Amino acid sequence: MDLSALYQELILKHYRHSAHKGALEAPDAEIQMNNPTCGDVIVLQLKAEGERIAAVRFGGQGCAISQAAASMMAHQVEGKTFAEAEALAERFKQLLHGDADAARDRALGDLRALAGVAKFPQRVRCAMLAWNALDEAKKRL
Ligand code: ZN
Repeated sequence: MDLSALYQELILKHYRHSAHKGALEAPDAEIQMNNPTCGDVIVLQLKAEGERIAAVRFGGQGCAISQAAASMMAHQVEGKTFAEAEALAERFKQLLHGDADAARDRALGDLRALAGVAKFPQRVRCAMLAWNALDEAKKRL
């Protein structure tokens, strides 16, 4: 089985049809983050219920990696606590730096499809953009 082809398909699926792309009615926080190196823009909206991330939506444009990573992240952190999301962010960072255990960690869900980014260090910023936005949005709650 060609795993990289499978992963590529998953990335394009998130890039083209994200269930989390769009806007929330009344977000508790909204932030725009740019990655000038690649030209990526992410607008992240957040709804919180206490310590929990109730809903995440994103908009923006940019490369497939930045947009797919935002979609995958939104899917993975919705319903989780901020502490759990932070742990996932750390795990995802390990994956982006080539950690083989992180690349197999089921907790990362579809984000595992981005393990190939480890071979392209200049794209790490693209993959981390939405996570950085989440971190900033949390500070604005
Ligand atoms: Zn990019």
